[in-house]
Amino acid sequence: MDQLDFTPAVGDHAFTPRQRELLALAHDLGSTKFAPRAAQWDEAASFPFANYEDLRAAGLLALCVPQAYGGGGADYATYMMVAAEIGRFCGVTSLTWNMHICSTMWTGVLADGVPMTETQRAEHLARRQLHFARVVQDGAIYAQPFSEGSAAAAGRAPFGTTARKIDGGWLVNGRKIFASLSGAANYYGILCTEDKGDEHPDARDTLYLAVPATSAGFSIGGEWNPLGMRGTVSRNLAFKDVFVPDAEQLMPRGVYYKGAQTWPAMFFTLAPTYLGIANAAYDFTVSYLRGEVPGEPPVKRRMYPTKQIAVAQMRIQLENLKSIFLRAITEARPNPSRDERMRLYAAQYTVMEGANDIARLAIRTCGGQSMMKHLPLERLYRDSRCGALMLPWTAELVLDRMGRETLYLPGEKDE
Ligand SMILES: Cc1cc2nc3c(=O)[nH]c(=O)nc-3n(C[C@H](O)[C@H](O)[C@H](O)COP(=O)(O)OP(=O)(O)OC[C@H]3O[C@@H](n4cnc5c(N)ncnc54)[C@H](O)[C@@H]3O)c2cc1C
Repeated sequence: MDQLDFTPAVGDHAFTPRQRELLALAHDLGSTKFAPRAAQWDEAASFPFANYEDLRAAGLLALCVPQAYGGGGADYATYMMVAAEIGRFCGVTSLTWNMHICSTMWTGVLADGVPMTETQRAEHLARRQLHFARVVQDGAIYAQPFSEGSAAAAGRAPFGTTARKIDGGWLVNGRKIFASLSGAANYYGILCTEDKGDEHPDARDTLYLAVPATSAGFSIGGEWNPLGMRGTVSRNLAFKDVFVPDAEQLMPRGVYYKGAQTWPAMFFTLAPTYLGIANAAYDFTVSYLRGEVPGEPPVKRRMYPTKQIAVAQMRIQLENLKSIFLRAITEARPNPSRDERMRLYAAQYTVMEGANDIARLAIRTCGGQSMMKHLPLERLYRDSRCGALMLPWTAELVLDRMGRETLYLPGEKDE
């Protein structure tokens, strides 16, 4: 494929042939399958199972599993581009797919760049075969429930969920909140703290374990009736003396902690969904003002200077989002420089706050009739509100980190 016949959500770029092929696939699936179904997941707050059948059939569940294990072998930047294209048509599918894909990236392409001892590396290479085979051969879905409602998901305390070593595996106790894909995932990739029997839990003892959905002592509970991203079905998980075999360790002991420090760009992986939503709000506005939304009266509103100015403002914001997003994903690497890290924070803030601002402008500009439930705009507005709340890089925490890290060099303190 030499050229794309659409502008991808991520913008124009010198894409590789493989990236073009994947973007075309995502665009086609999104426009023909995911967009027409998006309202139904939102209305019922139900999981997009039909979309997952399509992702599975297209090989997209295994997109980031290394090729040596039968997967698509996509790198970080390629994943981020494809996720933005999916987010343009269904935010819920893109956001939940991110949780699944991250489980394969942490164990795959990212783990390859994280320092390990020879023994750890050998253990990791042997164990990840099992996880990759489940995704590639069985089409298994992995969730990524890290949050607990404490400072742990913000990176400021050890996780309260614990795992104690016993013969052949781990005994897990605790709870998670906001577990997207709850009830849909076959495995829940949790972060927990190794319980070493002392009173001093330490974040360096964070363990990354896959808990099979069928485990005894594992349960899903709580209401799920939120403002937006309703189809993510992010309910609570409880673990009561859950036995998790050694083979379910997604990374060797202590390696996740190092990985999180080595690869800050992993915390930027929620952003493409919201870049996609920003594109959708902009696309809708243009076709609404031109009187071209299918099923709507062909009333044109484009002749009013106020609307023209608002569209220009939206386009400027969108170009800003795309530029910084593209820069951040193409330079993402282990151990980024200080400037690259700052740019990552800035990109996260710009996309998460900007997407909601573009959706806000879209509603104001299109006007009252555009916020009816049969049109996508009010859903885009609600869905886009959720991005800046997501830990560890909420809009607030990004400002906090950027300010501090700008004014203090590593290790610097005031007397
Ligand atoms: C649609 C949706 C889907 C989600 N899916 C998942 C998922 O699949 N997996 C997952 O792990 N999480 C998921 N989350 C959760 C998300 O990442 C956050 O953990 C969650 O929104 C935090 O909610 P909270 O009310 O506890 O937030 P907050 O109260 O804002 O944060 C929790 C704690 O973090 C610390 N904290 C927060 N802000 C600051 C600050 N500025 N300075 C210092 N400390 C701070 C505090 O200790 C605070 O009590 C999802 C969220 C949404 C909205």
